[in-house]
Amino acid sequence: MPEADCIVVGAGLSGLVTARHLAEAGLNVSVFDKGRSVGGRLATRRIGDARLDHGAQFFTVRTDRFAAQVNDWHARGLTRVWCTGFGENDGHDRWIGTDGMNSLAKDLARGLDVRVDHRVFAAARHEHNWIVTCDDGSTYESSTLVLTAPVPQSFSFIFEAIGELPREFFAEDHDRTIALLATLSCQSSLPEPGALQSPSDDVAFVVDHSMKGISAVPALTLNASPSWSEHYWEQPIEELEMLLRALAEPFIGEAQIAIAQVKKWRFATPRATWTEPCWAHHEAEVVVAGDAFGGPRVEGAFLSGVAAAEVITQWCTQRR
Ligand SMILES: Cc1cc2nc3c(=O)[nH]c(=O)nc-3n(C[C@H](O)[C@H](O)[C@H](O)COP(=O)(O)OP(=O)(O)OC[C@H]3O[C@@H](n4cnc5c(N)ncnc54)[C@H](O)[C@@H]3O)c2cc1C
Repeated sequence: MPEADCIVVGAGLSGLVTARHLAEAGLNVSVFDKGRSVGGRLATRRIGDARLDHGAQFFTVRTDRFAAQVNDWHARGLTRVWCTGFGENDGHDRWIGTDGMNSLAKDLARGLDVRVDHRVFAAARHEHNWIVTCDDGSTYESSTLVLTAPVPQSFSFIFEAIGELPREFFAEDHDRTIALLATLSCQSSLPEPGALQSPSDDVAFVVDHSMKGISAVPALTLNASPSWSEHYWEQPIEELEMLLRALAEPFIGEAQIAIAQVKKWRFATPRATWTEPCWAHHEAEVVVAGDAFGGPRVEGAFLSGVAAAEVITQWCTQRR
């Protein structure tokens, strides 16, 4: 018998949502992630007393399904509405994790079998089961498989086992993001609510986390635009820090940058998204999910994770 009903590769939002739904349906599920902790692009970092989100900064809610999850988080004090727009009020609530966006991933992961520091290296089909191999050589077996890594990588895992795969998935690429994380000597000069979206061609988003309400001390994240990030991608980190400090200058007013760190997101935003919320191969019992299917945002990743769980639950029920 395989060790698990399902192995989920990736403990970002989509993978955790899948695993949570499967566990609640009574299935035995294990999640593997190459990172040191859960969350993927739901990322929050501490620098001294500062707390900074440095992946997703907020999320919107457009579907009843996601609203149910957000209501549950809200009832437990894990989320709150930050604002209804940047610069202009467009009436759409922007939600945040009260203790940073990563706390939402940690909440979903609670009680699940999640193995971090486990980079999946290969997946092979063997006698109606999946054998997943990690880069330390360890192997794990399951009846079904869900892949939520960047799409070309997910498909490369199963190419040998399946053969006929949609060609367009291999060509799929992602925009990059280079981010500056900085603690400040005093509050920035950003206007209420403490952030600007696309204030210039080079800057995609800039946010003051004390104004956002997640940091006890002034701290700023600046996400460079996809074109800026691609252009400077290969520059040494010290050079990037200098360039990013210059980009941040117009937004910090009298403040001085105390500590600066640079974060590079190679797979920040999928350039193409598919209309289906996930891709499923019924004979091989494998699903590919993530924000490239649901839409390149927090809600899209959530909906893709739910869709993957529905497919897997059906297969596992049929097997029993
Ligand atoms: C800078 C930035 C800003 C953003 N801002 C917003 C925003 O303001 N609002 C919004 O709604 N969305 C935003 N997004 C998008 C949002 O963060 C994503 O859509 C969502 O978090 C994606 O979740 P996911 O589970 O699909 O992917 P991920 O979070 O990327 O999860 C995939 C996981 O797979 C793991 N993995 C990859 N390869 C392997 C492997 N070989 N073995 C094991 N594990 C592996 C990774 O470590 C990762 O944890 C932003 C993204 C970035 C990068």
